[in-house]
Amino acid sequence: MQGLSCREEKILVLVRLRPLSEKEVASSEAADWECINDTTILYRNTLREGSTFPSAYSFDRVFRGDCATRQVYEEGAKEIALSVVNGINSSIFAYGQTSSGKTYTMVGITEYTVADIFDYIHRHEERAFAVKFSAIEIYNEAVRDLLSTDHTPLRLLDDPEKGTVVEKVTEEVLRDWNHLKELLSICEAQRQIGETLLNERSSRSHQIIRLTIESSAREFLGKGNSTTLAASVNFIDLAGSERASQALSAGARLKEGCHINRSLLTLGTVIRKLSKGRHGHINYRDSKLTRILQPCLGGNARTAIICTLSPARSHVEQTRNTLLFACCAK
Ligand code: ADP
Ligand code: MG
Repeated sequence: MQGLSCREEKILVLVRLRPLSEKEVASSEAADWECINDTTILYRNTLREGSTFPSAYSFDRVFRGDCATRQVYEEGAKEIALSVVNGINSSIFAYGQTSSGKTYTMVGITEYTVADIFDYIHRHEERAFAVKFSAIEIYNEAVRDLLSTDHTPLRLLDDPEKGTVVEKVTEEVLRDWNHLKELLSICEAQRQIGETLLNERSSRSHQIIRLTIESSAREFLGKGNSTTLAASVNFIDLAGSERASQALSAGARLKEGCHINRSLLTLGTVIRKLSKGRHGHINYRDSKLTRILQPCLGGNARTAIICTLSPARSHVEQTRNTLLFACCAK
């Protein structure tokens, strides 16, 4: 992928445009955005001709509305996600306004990654592997285990070796791809508890699915001198990005808005600093989200951000905000 090396690599910034929904088509929404090649997306609104908005935005890769998630995975996320089998941590984010396609994109990418990880394991019988799955939600800066019916917030602890760890989080040893589907549906059900509208909650909370892969060479197993390779890949379905701008305008009045502001804004600052070369102090500790992800951001960890966009004219302000975030990350 564009000759990116592991260590000095910048953050990979991808943009995915979704198609107009049936509802939008039925209400004669105009689609104002178009991917003109593999790297550039263009704003085309003839009614706004002569406006001062920049109209072309370029990124590592842009995906048109008719691209399948498989293609986004293969060309955008696969290499980064699978570096986990070689002991390299990584994080793949979906950033965008509610209804722009974050969950649609992340679920697909998680499933393709797991399929490829099991495929890799079957082709490398010389090593013994364990794949562990955990899932948490950050809502109001409280961390909740999505695999547990106990909703007591989980604490974050500083481990001298592993860095920040989520205390007592459930880790399931993943058996196969079907097991993943089971676990994902448990998470989905957990997220709905206590909410009348799923969208309401998912637009305000961040979800992190973490796969940790441990492996060791079979010939050394039980001989005391085997070294275990361990790394994690994180799939982060962020709160709707409209929450960042709303929280800014609402000030500190809403507790919830304020916290989402904190996690999303801290992430924004961290990402901007990382993209500028990873020098100086990085404020990972300012939010739960960035604390939890710290071992998988920066250093030699690899990061991709998939910015999801609605093409609809009525969403133009949020679409532009997302693109501005994406520009800061590259
Ligand atoms: P978000 O998680 O950002 O709120 P969703 O992933 O739930 O958004 O997507 C909103 C709706 O749009 C869902 O019904 C989803 O199936 C559909 N959708 C999103 N992205 C695409 C896409 N690239 N192609 C087809 N349908 C999509
Ligand atoms: Mg969602």
